[in-house]
Amino acid sequence: MRLKKRPLLKTSNCLLCPSTKHPAWEAFPLPSSKLVRSDCQPFTGNKTLLECQNCGLVHSHIALPNDYYAAYDLDEAQMGSEQCLFSPLFEKPVPRSRQLLHLLKQTLPLPKQGRSLDLGCNHGFFSQELIRLFPNWQGFGYEPWPRPSALREKCIPPEQFFSGPLEAVPGSYDLLSLIHVLEHVPDPLGYLMALPRLLNPEGYLLIQIPDYSQTAFDLTIFDHLWHFNLQTLMALLMQSGWEVVMMGRFLPKELTALCRIPSQPLQPISPHRGAELATALKELNHLQLRVSMWEQAALDKAGPRVVLGTAIAAGYVSGLLEQPPDCYLDESPQTQGGSFWQRSVVGLDQLKALPAGSLFLPFPQPQALSIQTRLKPQLPHWQIGF
Ligand SMILES: [Zn+2]
Repeated sequence: MRLKKRPLLKTSNCLLCPSTKHPAWEAFPLPSSKLVRSDCQPFTGNKTLLECQNCGLVHSHIALPNDYYAAYDLDEAQMGSEQCLFSPLFEKPVPRSRQLLHLLKQTLPLPKQGRSLDLGCNHGFFSQELIRLFPNWQGFGYEPWPRPSALREKCIPPEQFFSGPLEAVPGSYDLLSLIHVLEHVPDPLGYLMALPRLLNPEGYLLIQIPDYSQTAFDLTIFDHLWHFNLQTLMALLMQSGWEVVMMGRFLPKELTALCRIPSQPLQPISPHRGAELATALKELNHLQLRVSMWEQAALDKAGPRVVLGTAIAAGYVSGLLEQPPDCYLDESPQTQGGSFWQRSVVGLDQLKALPAGSLFLPFPQPQALSIQTRLKPQLPHWQIGF
């Protein structure tokens, strides 16, 4: 399936190409309006991605409804605990914050005592993990529009939690963290430029974002206003005056960057547009076809229809189905027994006890193939598709 050439838009200047007076944005509407929110809940809306022709920066001009984040709910999908991601180091699913803090411990000369500020702290899991690994540190948190959270009160003492405008946050810190925040911020360049005020001169800034070049599903999240890859994140950080100490793909499907305030001015770099967006959009188009073929075959076969996972990918695929699946399979014990998109979440043992049905694996093909190979001996009579 070939992507049609889209009309060029001339809108505002590109964040990364300030010297180009009229950057041309190429517009790519997503193939389906059945999208997901970043808390994994369903959302119906049209999203058009704009890609800068010069540097490849991807964003979408979306005005989120005023009450968008008021209805935001991270509790249902993850049962009130932090999302676990498969860790190559631990060889099992481990909370994201724990993995990031281990990376910091191995990489940085962090002092024995210090103060950390997690910007966009939500329930405060990062601060909780920080104190576990660095018991002499203090974990502070900030949320611009906080919702009451009993979990956060357990993780961050009330006097160490701030809300309201960023400019009003007091103090200075040895570590600032932005974990899955930058992609939500309307002006990430201005946001990054405002942070040095909060950082001690020897301190570090940790940034964690999704990498759409590793997971096309990131593009289907309605409230992700920006979609970065390695090159555009590097350019954004340098453009906003940060020295990048380390950047890489340490966690699956995500990018990690460690930065500090430079001792001398930096020369900004200009990335060049690559093929990442075109590739990711092709993947989404193929997926739509694969989901519909799987659903047709599943409806012809008796037995339950099941989707693997309880995160963004499983949510997006569920929106594409004509009929919702009967349940979700999740191999992470913390989500089993709960619900996702109003269906129950089961483990592999429970699935084996059901009559054989059809299972869809919402993963890129190489990864899906290895999951299929692993699951097939356990579910011999099931139709496993991807
Ligand atoms: Zn640009």
